[in-house]
Amino acid sequence: MVSIVSHGTLVKRQCGHRARLALSPAEALRTDGQAHAARTMWNLLHAWWQMMPKEKRTLAHADAAVRQARKDIDFLAVLPAQAAQAVLKTYFQAWKNCWDGRAGAPNFKGRFRTVMSVDVPQGRDLNIVRVHRRWGMVNIPKVGRLRFRWTKDLPVGKHANAENRITGARLVKDALGWHIAFRVQSVEVKPEPHQGPEVGIDVGVTVPIALSDGERYEHAEWLTEKEKARLVHLERRAARRKQHRKPGERTSRRLHRTYDQIAGLRAKAKRRALDWQHRTTTAIARTYGTVVVEALTITNMVKSARGTIEEPGKNVAQKSGLNRSISREAWGRTVTMLTYKTARLGGTLHKVPAPGTSQRCSACGFTAPGNRESQAVFVCKNPDCGWSGNADHNAARNVLHLYRMGLALVPAAGRAVVRRAKHVKPVAAR
Ligand SMILES: [Zn+2]
Repeated sequence: MVSIVSHGTLVKRQCGHRARLALSPAEALRTDGQAHAARTMWNLLHAWWQMMPKEKRTLAHADAAVRQARKDIDFLAVLPAQAAQAVLKTYFQAWKNCWDGRAGAPNFKGRFRTVMSVDVPQGRDLNIVRVHRRWGMVNIPKVGRLRFRWTKDLPVGKHANAENRITGARLVKDALGWHIAFRVQSVEVKPEPHQGPEVGIDVGVTVPIALSDGERYEHAEWLTEKEKARLVHLERRAARRKQHRKPGERTSRRLHRTYDQIAGLRAKAKRRALDWQHRTTTAIARTYGTVVVEALTITNMVKSARGTIEEPGKNVAQKSGLNRSISREAWGRTVTMLTYKTARLGGTLHKVPAPGTSQRCSACGFTAPGNRESQAVFVCKNPDCGWSGNADHNAARNVLHLYRMGLALVPAAGRAVVRRAKHVKPVAAR
């Protein structure tokens, strides 16, 4: 029996946990089959939706159509009824997201462009048991009992109760094979406000993450020299095989295999980057009470660099290099991680408008385009100041300064507005 001694309010928390599955070839085939059936179900639903008059596009009608399809089409039977219901739910949610302006309209899912996945919406079907220090077992309907890597203590067995439990899971396939993502629900005591210091963070060009107090988080290349050489080799091989393919000819098995190997190496790099991001953001959220980041609109930056054919963008080469590094560092994901990690530890995350942070001197406030001598070096051109240092460190200090000036953005009515706090004395950043 788990009892929570409460000093404060309890908060419900939903989070995900992803683990690697170890499947036999037969199990992998069955899971593939279910994923293909789930995709077909989606496509049938979409066709049904487009065909139906507006007043008949209801959940009840769609549900009847799904049941009929499962009876009529043999291979859809491999998909458990609950998973088919999950497809229906996701499809209707996709339309809701579209109508609320969060996403584009749902469309047909292609065989090779879609992430393979199967939903297990009922947590009680899973019957999770830890069988070894490193392994757990999970039940997947119509696939069997599967082994997964146990890397985190999950609320199962005697640790589970009405508040702390697994509410469902989703099987997802990437280039490294099948994984399982558990939906974990827990109830925690609301954390005390974090007493740690304030810090500004800059998305680095030369340093991946630079903090206003001089701390910096760096990482090695995601792939070793050997792996990089292999990636280049595989890419050349793929290009060569593609070149020799006659028009209209199907992609050969050998070329598909090479594509899979390339995707595997890229997935490995991504997984290492994700691990680094998780460790870094956890360290930051533990140390600081107030975290300030730049409000960057990454999609806009990527768009503006390339420009159009009539109006090519300025500094294309320079910007595309920066964009590449932004995408590689996946700044958006870092901010998402920081948001929930700071909230969990009682801290807060603030966003400030970005312009000028790289050109302003953080010591005297003098702003000039020439201040940033190179990507790495910042030297203040104000004759009375002459402060010099790492350019990313300088920008991080500016980010913190903007927050202290009361320029933090607060989301209101779906868009960001600038709030100016009154009676805030400008303080020089540390
Ligand atoms: Zn200066």
